[in-house]
Amino acid sequence: MNETIYDAVVVGGGPCGATTAADLALAGHSVLLMERGGRIKPCGGAVPPRMLEDFDIPQSLLVARARCARMIAPSGRSVDMPVGEIGYVGMVDRDEFDEWLRERARMSGAERLSAVFEKVERDDNPHPLVTFRRKRGGPIERVRARCIIGADGARSSVAKQCLPGAERVKCVFAYHEIIKSPANDGEAFDANRCDVFYQGKLSPDFYAWVFPHGETASIGVGSANKGFSLRGAVSQMRTELDLTRCETVRREGAPIPLKPLKRWDNGKDVIVAGDAAGIVAPASGEGIYYAMTGGRYVADAASEFLKTGEAKALKRARSRFMKEHGRVFWILGMMQYFWYSSDKRRERFVTMCDDKDVQQLTWQAYMNKKLVRKKPMAHVKIFLKDCAHLLGMRAATR
Ligand SMILES: Cc1cc2nc3c(=O)[nH]c(=O)nc-3n(C[C@H](O)[C@H](O)[C@H](O)COP(=O)(O)OP(=O)(O)OC[C@H]3O[C@@H](n4cnc5c(N)ncnc54)[C@H](O)[C@@H]3O)c2cc1C
Repeated sequence: MNETIYDAVVVGGGPCGATTAADLALAGHSVLLMERGGRIKPCGGAVPPRMLEDFDIPQSLLVARARCARMIAPSGRSVDMPVGEIGYVGMVDRDEFDEWLRERARMSGAERLSAVFEKVERDDNPHPLVTFRRKRGGPIERVRARCIIGADGARSSVAKQCLPGAERVKCVFAYHEIIKSPANDGEAFDANRCDVFYQGKLSPDFYAWVFPHGETASIGVGSANKGFSLRGAVSQMRTELDLTRCETVRREGAPIPLKPLKRWDNGKDVIVAGDAAGIVAPASGEGIYYAMTGGRYVADAASEFLKTGEAKALKRARSRFMKEHGRVFWILGMMQYFWYSSDKRRERFVTMCDDKDVQQLTWQAYMNKKLVRKKPMAHVKIFLKDCAHLLGMRAATR
């Protein structure tokens, strides 16, 4: 029997899978990009300028640019963190953004397939089969691949089937409502500002947000606490912010994984990336930039594997990613653990955000996705202030 064999089947056409598919196709490999479609990924859509630079994303895909973040404490007190001259927080609408990335992958040489992935199967051929259905209840079909890339998001089926322990990834559940934007009064709602609520009543362990998206806005909340009503929290926010009168466009939610998997590959021919590998920044829940970066590293590693046949090449994707971003993830994890655990700490956290050094380093780290080493004394100062805030001795270090 003459069967097609792809170098790579990429499952999932979100930011991760579409990036991996484009890179692999540009490297000369035959690629099938499988995406189930039919649903817009629930997402706040906030992205750093570095994402646009690294991945050649046109500015025209941004529906808004926020120039300030307003941090709101449990007491209702707020602190504005202006971005300044160094950049902005970009906003993308995921229906348009993801489709643009998938089309770019197609134009780079990947084949697109609208289908739902089912299983990885093995027979006596050395290369695995990917089974899928083009529509619900339709017949099972199969395609063979030298390498399978799981970019199918949080609670990835590819990861659960192929990587031990992947079914136990800890997640925050996030829910948001897309509304028609209210008038831009610059106070209760500002089309150029992201509002971030650190209030236990809205989220006992994460945060709630209002992000501007031009014509629309995302009002959302995240929590890992299963008994907490996310819908109730968003409804409360809309009431308190006088946003109930705005038309609701969509209501949707999804899990956000908060810990990178220990292994991304099966030591043979399957590798995962993006949310499927758990690479979302703790404390912020930022995942788009990391999904695309992880996707790129997976494409490089898979390309090397396809050229050399050495399965150990696959391991390099994770080690490269963790070398570059592991420290930031660790710091953000500690921040979430300390600062999001009680209203008392949240209040101090917001006070700390009033500090100019904290604001500068936070924005530089966000924009550049690196810890800035140019100002070591600023880090020491922040560390001391951080400790003082945590211990409730803020006045002593002023
Ligand atoms: C409410 C919410 C708000 C968020 N806000 C932000 C934010 O403001 N900024 C930010 O950077 N990150 C945010 N995130 C995180 C961000 O959305 C993810 O980290 C990012 O989308 C991960 O990209 P990905 O390509 O790995 O996965 P996904 O974007 O989830 O893409 C996976 C793709 O796989 C497809 N798929 C899944 N299963 C199958 C299957 N069986 N067969 C075929 N296809 C399949 C899906 O349809 C999907 O297109 C938010 C997440 C949530 C839930």
